[in-house]
Amino acid sequence: MAVKRYLMAPGPTPVPPEVLAAGAEPVLHHRGPDFRELMLRCLARLQEVCRTQNDVLLFTASGSGAFESAVVNLLSPGEPVLAVTAGEFGDRWAALAATYGADVHELRYAWGETPRPEDVRARLEETGAEVVFLVHSETSTGVVADVQALAQAAREAGALTVVDAVSSVGAVPLETDTWGLDVVVAGSQKALMTPPGLSLVVVSSRAWERAARTTTPRFYFDWARMRASLETGTTPFTPAVSVVVALDTALGLLLEEGLEAAFARHAALGRACREGAKAMGLELFSPDEERSAIVTAILAPTGVDARELVLALRGRFGITVAGGHGELAPRMFRIGHIGYYDVFDITTALAAVEFLLVETGADVERGTAVARALEAYREAVRV
Ligand SMILES: *Cc1c(COP(=O)(O)O)cnc(C)c1O
Repeated sequence: MAVKRYLMAPGPTPVPPEVLAAGAEPVLHHRGPDFRELMLRCLARLQEVCRTQNDVLLFTASGSGAFESAVVNLLSPGEPVLAVTAGEFGDRWAALAATYGADVHELRYAWGETPRPEDVRARLEETGAEVVFLVHSETSTGVVADVQALAQAAREAGALTVVDAVSSVGAVPLETDTWGLDVVVAGSQKALMTPPGLSLVVVSSRAWERAARTTTPRFYFDWARMRASLETGTTPFTPAVSVVVALDTALGLLLEEGLEAAFARHAALGRACREGAKAMGLELFSPDEERSAIVTAILAPTGVDARELVLALRGRFGITVAGGHGELAPRMFRIGHIGYYDVFDITTALAAVEFLLVETGADVERGTAVARALEAYREAVRV
């Protein structure tokens, strides 16, 4: 038999069959009336999912493309910006802004720490930065930040917030308008249950005002050009039309489930994964808290190389989990649980990890992880 494949990384994520089927329909022309209707509906659904009345722009690019659009539209060379970083993605946004000549200040934490609002306030006052980059869900560590509190601190200090919500939107609460987030960036390939290829940016009126004054050159990622086109239901350049069809279908599924129900499901999955891992005797790297519902980062037992575990999961069982970044690679692996995911995906991942660890003679509890994960899930869905 061909090896059955399980995608259990925090992006790209598994795609529901109806979304795959929608993406396989004959290609539409992006200047035609059928595409226009589809695009306008998709944008309205994205507003609903991001809980916003602000403009949503859709770019054919990965999440980093949308983030680059925020940098080129919001910053002029030499301007101070604050990047809050506690992992891979915070570091990426600092490097991206530096590439475009911004005067990048960092609020840097050790990987795995959770950023604090009082630090954001202090660093903004110190640096005079008018724009701050925040990461909602730092996928490299499993930490989900309290973006509401961070954004409030930024607003009090007079700064515009740019939030990386690539792995969080659709999985944990994100209230763009209520929390006063100026720019939110996301991608199609995480909790939105769609293949990679599209990224979105939500832009507030304050961000539009700033974008009108900035001098960084831009063309493909120019927000104003994109908005003018989207208002008529098309894009300035050929979009990934089949991914738009898929995304629209996936958003329909998500809204049918209901956002609150989706958030509750993700919280329950996160809890099941953490409890199962701990029952096996494994140590968590990601915080053992309700908010940490995107990806569970787990430390391999002493004497086990996490890179080998990740390779064996894939080679032996067709299970793709994520490894750790950088220095954490030998020690950490990450089980993603965003999007098209249920509790039996969690138990499959935990059972396979247990199987391999028992085989290597690692010191783990046998037969408890799956039972405890199911019990924790039952407790979570009951409340
Ligand atoms: C996946 C991800 C991104 C986007 O990365 P791309 O590969 O450019 O799509 C950005 N930020 C976070 C937190 C992510 O998880």
